[in-house]
Amino acid sequence: MKILVINCGSSSLKYQVLDMNGEVLLAKGLVERIGMEGAVITHEKIGMDKVKNVTPMETHKEAIALVLEAIADKEHGVIADMSEIGAVGHRVVHAGEKYAGSVLITQDVINALEECTELAPLHNPPNLLGIAACQELMADTPMVGVFDTAFHQTMPAQSYIYALPYEYYEKYGVRRYGFHGTSHKYVSKRCAEILGKDIKDINIITCHLGNGASIAAVKGGVCIDTSMGFTPLEGLVMGTRSGDLDPAIVSFVANKEGLDLDGVNNVLNKKSGVFGISGVSSDFRDLETAEAEGNERAKLALEVFAYRVKKYIGSYVAAMNGVDAIVFTAGVGENDMGMREAICKDMDALGIKLDSEKNAVRGKETIISADDSKVDLVLIPTNEELTIARDTLEIVQG
Ligand code: ADP
Repeated sequence: MKILVINCGSSSLKYQVLDMNGEVLLAKGLVERIGMEGAVITHEKIGMDKVKNVTPMETHKEAIALVLEAIADKEHGVIADMSEIGAVGHRVVHAGEKYAGSVLITQDVINALEECTELAPLHNPPNLLGIAACQELMADTPMVGVFDTAFHQTMPAQSYIYALPYEYYEKYGVRRYGFHGTSHKYVSKRCAEILGKDIKDINIITCHLGNGASIAAVKGGVCIDTSMGFTPLEGLVMGTRSGDLDPAIVSFVANKEGLDLDGVNNVLNKKSGVFGISGVSSDFRDLETAEAEGNERAKLALEVFAYRVKKYIGSYVAAMNGVDAIVFTAGVGENDMGMREAICKDMDALGIKLDSEKNAVRGKETIISADDSKVDLVLIPTNEELTIARDTLEIVQG
């Protein structure tokens, strides 16, 4: 079966077509600037050059129509007819407490996801627009929702309850949800496979370190804690997000800077993180260049980032009463050997020892721990689209 995977954002959309017979990626692409001037679709049939088409598209429906055209194109397409697409898998950010796994999309599911919009006002609406557009254009094709929050629904209450008046949880759903679940699920499963172990027998810490960053404690294949919380702002230091901080800073900064609450929220999400500390960039490549040129704040930003990851790893070793493997994934985790080195430095008391030579790699599945490290350190490029396609296949095949 061929599966179309859609990841729909507010003005952009990523897609892939996979042949699940052998899990082969056939085509992928990106639509940018939906509803804006200069809207563009970049399509790539695997093995051929990318094709770019700048063309107006006002709505997500028009964008999806262009995607369907691209994947059925005579020269650059990968299907002869739309009926070859057996199902569509949609990435949806927030399913609240409604779903702990992927589901076939029905009207009831859509209603439930609309209720979760309050929890993810920037993400769920475009995700739902993508689903609606596909339903209109591919009325007979089953659609599956795969949720960023689902993998973390196994967290026990001690991990997800905030120490706030309990009625905020009951009335408003204020609790920790966690995100990047599709990635944490994929890399933890893959880690067990690479190590030749049953995932049920091991404790894994998965570090998804990209522009957004989160870390999860996966005990016996089940997530028991993760660093992102009610929103993706909590936890690790990120490209532009602060991660954990003293909540009293919010009103203090609001008063000092003359900001309202949304203004502070904006600072914490968009002007903080390694960007905020360094004043240079949210991109780790820029920070490392600046550090090499003697920029002290870029150096500090990288140190603060690494130290936060290290602290979370230590706390998850405690939470799981030990760890067998630590996985590094996403843009920084997969590519930044210096950052992996900084995180793992001086962790031998916990049985964590990186091998600098093995660590000198980028973007490929490999073990980077020293031979005498008690904990396996594993580099695994994440593949959220494949996970979405697998879940979609499993659900439509019942
Ligand atoms: P997201 O999906 O959250 O946007 P990614 O997982 O794609 O993020 O990660 C993007 C980040 O990865 C970039 O901002 C950059 O900081 C980092 N990155 C990518 N390549 C490298 C590299 N070679 N060295 C260091 N950092 C890198």
